[in-house]
Amino acid sequence: MAVSRREFLRGSAAAVALSALGVPALGADAGGPEKWVKGVCRYCGTGCGVLVGVKGGKAVAVKGDPNNHNEGKLCQKGALLVPAVIYAKDRITDPMIRKGGKKSQLEKVSWDEALDFATKRFKAVIAESGPQAVAYYGSGQALTEESYLANKIWKAGLRSNNVDGNPRLCMASAVAGYLTSFGKDEPMGTYNDIDSASCFFIIGSNTSEAHPILFDRIARRKESAPDVKIIVVDPRRTNTARIADMHVPFKPGTDLALLNGMAHVIFRDELDNPSFMGRYTIVKKGAGEEATLEEYKRFVSEYTPEKVREITGVPAEDVVKMARMFAESPATISLWCMGINQRSKGVWANNLIHNLHLITGQIGRPGATPLSLTGQPNACGGVRDTGSLAHLLPAGRMVENEKHRNEMEDFWKVPRGTIQPKMGFHTVALFENMAAGKVQAVFIHCTNPAQTLPHLNKYTPALEKAFVAQTECFMDAETLKYADVVFPAAFWCETEGVYGCTERRYALTEQAIPPLGNSRPVIQVLLDFARGVGVDPALIPYKNAADIWEEWRTLSKQGPYNFYGITRERLKKESGIKWPCPDETHPGTNLRYVRGDDPLVPKDHPNRIFFYGSPTGKATIWLRPHQPPFEPADADYPFVLTTGRVIDQWHTATMTGKVPELHRAYPAAFVEINPEDAKKLNIKNGDQVILETRRDKMAFPARITDTCMPGLVFCPFFDKNKLVNRLFHDAVDAASKEPEYKICATKVYKQA
Ligand code: SF4
Repeated sequence: MAVSRREFLRGSAAAVALSALGVPALGADAGGPEKWVKGVCRYCGTGCGVLVGVKGGKAVAVKGDPNNHNEGKLCQKGALLVPAVIYAKDRITDPMIRKGGKKSQLEKVSWDEALDFATKRFKAVIAESGPQAVAYYGSGQALTEESYLANKIWKAGLRSNNVDGNPRLCMASAVAGYLTSFGKDEPMGTYNDIDSASCFFIIGSNTSEAHPILFDRIARRKESAPDVKIIVVDPRRTNTARIADMHVPFKPGTDLALLNGMAHVIFRDELDNPSFMGRYTIVKKGAGEEATLEEYKRFVSEYTPEKVREITGVPAEDVVKMARMFAESPATISLWCMGINQRSKGVWANNLIHNLHLITGQIGRPGATPLSLTGQPNACGGVRDTGSLAHLLPAGRMVENEKHRNEMEDFWKVPRGTIQPKMGFHTVALFENMAAGKVQAVFIHCTNPAQTLPHLNKYTPALEKAFVAQTECFMDAETLKYADVVFPAAFWCETEGVYGCTERRYALTEQAIPPLGNSRPVIQVLLDFARGVGVDPALIPYKNAADIWEEWRTLSKQGPYNFYGITRERLKKESGIKWPCPDETHPGTNLRYVRGDDPLVPKDHPNRIFFYGSPTGKATIWLRPHQPPFEPADADYPFVLTTGRVIDQWHTATMTGKVPELHRAYPAAFVEINPEDAKKLNIKNGDQVILETRRDKMAFPARITDTCMPGLVFCPFFDKNKLVNRLFHDAVDAASKEPEYKICATKVYKQA
């Protein structure tokens, strides 16, 4: 039965709203929980507040926190977190080691034996090959305190900058985009902007499946104000596109031309905002050379709608229509995610979205903002803010900046010169160097690289070669196959710590229940590990996560990431606070960089907006030409393969795969094929279809659907039995080093 857009819109909001009532106390006895403990959902970067119901020392139920931004709502993933995931049969509750090398079985041992096994090996590697031969590979799912601690242990304690993690695979281009356009990372807007926006420009984001609660908020905004316009730019006609006034499919990998074409129309039709540009922006090109606004206008004048149509396949009149909707709306919000970030020109694509806001002045007002969506619950707060990547130091400092290193050395009370001056290995380089034997031991925390790295056939040998110490909760994590020592980690509400979500909101997950079996909080594991490897105890004088938060919040006071006012006590009382927040009475900031709202902009500053993270106080409009993707389709490999999420499974499904209701919806990976292509290739629904790329070939059951445009096929990446990343190349963005997961060339044919 055909469903109208309006019906779908209502249905989308209603489906999510159901969970506002709280999921029935799954597994709870009559009488319900004895208490509800506050936390944050374990899954996506939306960062919904939850309340965990506890009875008899067990987590028995979960419901949305009515005081957090999600107003008590949860999507199906969050609503089913308890109890199936926590008490899964394959929870790891004891330390394990492989006594006879990689080919031997993991054996249960005591904590002392496991720690001794790991620390002896790390010490030996450092003694023989130096600190650059050891690494930490972390996660946007680790707690903030864990990432801050690991970063300090490695960079100041072991003197190795080999600290990277899975945010490199999803957010690094957004980080570099904010840094280059505005001078500092993290967005200026918040979710409140959704309620004020009159135009939504959604590009490279399937919000309905990847961030369902935000999609619900967008759908409600659209329902409440019929004049609100939604533009969805995506080669797939996803459920997100179904609520759009304008869905714009385009040839994959041509988004840079499309965005420059919109800028062309904005100038051509005099929809630009000269006074905003004059007051608040500068123009740059290339690696950062100064340019003039006239040069920029000449540059975009080449991207006529007709030329853009030739490159992108988007009709010229649609380019014009989109640009007008963007510029003429009273308040436009852009939302994007992996479709923009996971590209070989991901940073440039980020810059070009920011350009549109800067040339129209669609920024710094309620509803007018570029807001990059985050895939993981703590990639922003935990990894980006604490600087737990190979090139970063805490609070926006850079490893290769001597002043920044000295500031951190002084704060950490280590001698000047302790922090190595060269950045460590970013993720792809790290695994290359592991395969080459230069990095010989790695501590992997809270992530599953054996499933998520690109070009897996090239990089899994790295995990076979290096000594792997791993924290893990579940036996079915693919990376466990390569672990030499496994530290059983306390899961989510069995420990406590802070998450920072997409909108600069820090919120605390409190400990609701004790760690299962012999599992331990990872803070304790990292501290024991560091002492065992010989890190000076004075550098890590912490008793618990709260001590680490206290240090981190004190450090933040020194600069533009100031959240000194977010004390542990406030985090316990409140359901998240948005920084900047310099003192304990400050309520948190919605409009960053805006005088009167952001406490870091002086009250008497002459300008309403002050980009204080940038040396000039101004934002940068960048000249960024169109560039094709690394591996476009060609005569030999005529289709484009792309990957992404489905609504019921999260990341590598080590958690959602354990929830029967979720697993039933998506038990295995598949390949989406457009009906036109299927007809030409004589493929029917359910047929086994081979995808063959220059790296490997694999079979998937076919789903014939017009979600994909002709020439494009889509496979989700959650299924460990179908490691789709084996098919992908490992090309990275030159600036952010983020891999291009969204586009590779493939052959498609029916299995014989
Ligand atoms: S939208 Fe994301 S954070 Fe919110 S409940 Fe769903 S998975 Fe959890």
